[in-house]
Amino acid sequence: MNAMVLNELCSLQENRRPLEFRELPLPVPGKREILVKVSACGVCHTELDEIEGRTPPTRFPMVLGHQVVGRVVEKGPQADAFEMGDRVGIGWIHSACGKCRFCHEGQENLCDHFEATGRDAPGGYAQYTTILEDFAYGIPEVFLDAEAAPLLCAGAIGYRSLRLTGIRDGQNLGLTGFGASAHLVLKMTRYKYPNTGIFVFARSEKEREFARELGAVWAGNTEEEAPEKLDCLIDTTPVWKPVVEGLKNLQKGGRLVINAIRKENLDKETLLELDYPVHLWLEKEIKSVANVARRDVQEFLELAATIPLKPEFQEYALEDANEALIELRERKIRGAKVLRIH
Ligand SMILES: [Zn+2]
Ligand SMILES: [Zn+2]
Repeated sequence: MNAMVLNELCSLQENRRPLEFRELPLPVPGKREILVKVSACGVCHTELDEIEGRTPPTRFPMVLGHQVVGRVVEKGPQADAFEMGDRVGIGWIHSACGKCRFCHEGQENLCDHFEATGRDAPGGYAQYTTILEDFAYGIPEVFLDAEAAPLLCAGAIGYRSLRLTGIRDGQNLGLTGFGASAHLVLKMTRYKYPNTGIFVFARSEKEREFARELGAVWAGNTEEEAPEKLDCLIDTTPVWKPVVEGLKNLQKGGRLVINAIRKENLDKETLLELDYPVHLWLEKEIKSVANVARRDVQEFLELAATIPLKPEFQEYALEDANEALIELRERKIRGAKVLRIH
């Protein structure tokens, strides 16, 4: 099968073609696994973190990609959850131990043996991939393959972040950074919390315009002060400045949720500007979001189908995965980037 593989860690500043187009053997599904013929795979900021080593693959070569949509073409001897030809999705969570306290409580995202698709096991930048059937999801019919793919990570983790803010209808929500995940959060918030005002902080005017088009009541630059205090704020940026600036905009008792697997160190010194009375005093909270649990993906897919919530997307051929990654890195973003795979 054809695949785009990562052979070693590298800096994207020096290497604009980190992935190599290669022929790999067709994977064979294990006992309770299914073989999926991939048709679409979303391109996520986490891939940049994997390539540059902030969350490195556990082995090489690795096939990246954890927003996978395709059809079941073969089943392991004990796999019976899906029929041949069923359309399924695979997200960031590839497997977990199933035995620990966290797994039992539906928090398998925090399991010590959590394995990520496209980092600890081969992902969707390829024509085929395998997955334990318990970690695959049926895709509601309303979605095109390319629409469903970004929902599996950006959407599901966005759903989890929104859940972790603890927001109630009518409270103000801020979004700092306006990529794939944030634009989906904006849409689901408008549906679930119709009286909530949404305030977006983004560096580029294009992103701010896009946010206003989608219904943000206000959109400004990262350093700007929002016209109202925010009860909750979700940060999806890879850097620190939006966190520090965001805390200033937070209401008393407000909560900032950081939805980023790793932060880059480029502007770490910004943290020294943290001024306790301005940024943290009066019971402001900071919480991170780690991975996703299956419940997040499942609930979110149902919610997205009901709204219906269809992400804006831009398609690339599998062979052009490097271009998609570089454009993502350079923040040439309007909606989600998706590889179309034949
Ligand atoms: Zn992702
Ligand atoms: Zn576990």
